[in-house]
Parts: sequence; structure tokens; C-alpha cells
Amino acid sequence: MTRFLTDLAAGLTPYVPGEQPKDRTYVKLNTNENPYPPSEQVLQAIREAMDGLRLYPDPDTTALRETIAASFQGNFPGGAQDNLPSGAVTAANVFVGNGSDEVLAFAFPAFFAERMVVFPNITYSFYPVYAQLFKTEFVEIPLGSDFNINPEDYTYLSSLWPKPAGILIPNPNAPTGRCLSLEEIRLIVASNPDIVVLIDEAYIDFGGESAVQLVPLYDNLLVVQTLSKSRALAGLRAGFAIGSVALIEALNRIKNSFNSYTVDRLAMAGARAAMLDQGYFEKTRDQIIDTRERVVARLTEMGFSVLPSKANFIFISHSNKPAVELFDGLRQKGVLVRYFNKPLIDNYLRVSIGTEEEMDIFLRCMAELIAR
Ligand code: PMP
Repeated sequence: MTRFLTDLAAGLTPYVPGEQPKDRTYVKLNTNENPYPPSEQVLQAIREAMDGLRLYPDPDTTALRETIAASFQGNFPGGAQDNLPSGAVTAANVFVGNGSDEVLAFAFPAFFAERMVVFPNITYSFYPVYAQLFKTEFVEIPLGSDFNINPEDYTYLSSLWPKPAGILIPNPNAPTGRCLSLEEIRLIVASNPDIVVLIDEAYIDFGGESAVQLVPLYDNLLVVQTLSKSRALAGLRAGFAIGSVALIEALNRIKNSFNSYTVDRLAMAGARAAMLDQGYFEKTRDQIIDTRERVVARLTEMGFSVLPSKANFIFISHSNKPAVELFDGLRQKGVLVRYFNKPLIDNYLRVSIGTEEEMDIFLRCMAELIAR
């Protein structure tokens, strides 16, 4: 390490993203990418946007925010019987960033820095990294014995002393894939009115119920989503947050103190087209869910324990074969999955859901490995 580093930089343990291998072609099931290409309309919109590259993009991402807000209109049933307001979210409730990682990163200086945040002990491993970068204390709440998040562990935290500034929960959780119900999320948000509850919904489209519909009810709720997974745009970098106008303004304060143009013209155009092509989104999402259910059934027959997943990945282990052996064996056979060498989860593999053909190869390789 060089003498030029600040103590802050020297003290960081950076996040390690899943491998993007260059040595050979793998069946790539290690970074929860969508196995299908983006909508054809995305490519068309990006081509058209290329004409404008001479000019800076809209720093407020207005057209994209409007499209995102409109895409949630159907999520607000309203009416007295379900106790939801008939109002929906507007563009003023939306913030767009360069991938949801950036949105999550901005949330730290906006709400948590030099304070304390609470998240599960097994969760997205970027959270402790942001906490370190933004000098945020964090308290990790252990998952239950079945890797479940117990919602009661997160209720009424604003009455604790020292009082946390926020709660951060991925729903579905990563890397487990387990999902809380909308009612459970509501319990957490409603019981902590004085602290920000950030729900990271990177994988919500694969079977969970989004908390976006609670945004008009609770000004402390911030929901973060991404176009990287269910919209097949990991390479474009677009994610967003939906929350009360006050929370969105706070994120803008940070963004505008960092970089005015975090979302470029191509990303804005492509992301907008992806949000508009609902038909393609639903078709590919349903296919991934069908494939997931088929793979879960087959792995269960093969003796794997598979956590219930509402994501585009599954978290699995086998009582007779250490996960690290399976990971190495799969890799040798050209199948890449994710292994975390960390306490509590070091006998599990996280496997992204690929195409039907990719999952057939994966299942065949697994069958060979456990027969050895
Ligand atoms: N949240 C969770 C839980 C994730 O797993 C990921 C993907 N690594 C992200 C956020 C970030 O996704 P992106 O920056 O591609 O939007």
C-alpha cells in the first residue's frame, strides 16, 4: 500500500464483485444477470439517443423519472377497504442513479453517515463497505435458523438507545432469496416512523410484492430497485429509488455534490424503453420464474436443500458434498456459480437462474458431481 493513501482509503475493504471471466466461455450463473437479452425497443432507443451524445444529458433524468413513476400506477389500488391512499407516486418521488449500487451509496451520506444503520448479518455484502466509506456504524441482526429475517427484530428500533438512523433490508434478501411479505415490511416501516427504512428490491420482480405501494403512506420509506436484473440491463447501469419528496431531495443533494450527470444519455434512453416494454418484461420474468421452479424441484429430488427463493437465483447446499468442492467441480466443467467463503454460508452455493438450456447443463454437471 502506498504512502499516498488517506487513512480512510487505507482502511477500506472494498467489495469484490462476482467474477466476469475472460479465460473461456462459461455457463455464467454467478452474478444474477438476466439470461435473456434486453427488449429490442431498448436497443432501438439507444441507437436513436446516439445522435445527442455531443450534449450533456438531462441532470434531472426527468423523462425517465416520469416513465418510472407511471409504470407503478397500477400498484396503487387505493380505496378504503384496503386502507391505501388512492394517490400514487409522481416523478417527484423518483431518483435515478448509475445502477442501484450508486443509489444505495448515496443513501449513506444522505441518511446514515456518522450515525448508525441496522441490517441483517447475512445480506448484500456491499452494505458494510458503504458503511466503512461513509463512517457509519452498523449493527447486524442475525437471521433465523432457516436464514429467515424475523420482522419483529426490526420493529420499534427508533426507541432503542443509541437510536439507529436507518434500517436497510434487501427484499428478497441476498444471497438467500428469502422474501418478506408486504405486511411484514409495513410493520417495520410503520413502527419506525423516525428513522429511514430502506428496502433494497433488486430482485422483487421475481415473485415478491413491492413496497412501492406503501410510499404514499410512510415518509420514512425508501424503496430501491434496479434495471440490472428483471429488465436485463446490468451493462447499462440504471437503478432508482422511490420515496417521499423529502427523501428524494436528500438523495439529490448528495448527487449534486458529487456528479451532476451520473446517468448518461444512452442509459436514460435505454432504461426508459425498458420500463415501457411491459410485455417483454413480463414474458422474460415469467420464463425465469418457471425455470427456477423446475430447477428447484429437480435439485430437491437430487437431495439438495434449497431455500425458498423469490429471486432470480437460488441458495443451495448438499449434505454429502461440501459446497466448495461443488463450486470447483462446476467450474472445471465450465459452469460458474457463486461461493461465499464466509461464516454461516460457507457450505452454500448461490446459483443464478439462466436459460432452460443453461440450467440443463448445470443440472447435468451437478448430477455427475454428487454421484462421485
Ligand atoms: N442490491 C442487491 C441486493 C444486489 O444483489 C445488487 C447486485 N449486485 C444490487 C443491489 C446492485 O445492482 P445494480 O447496481 O446493478 O443496480
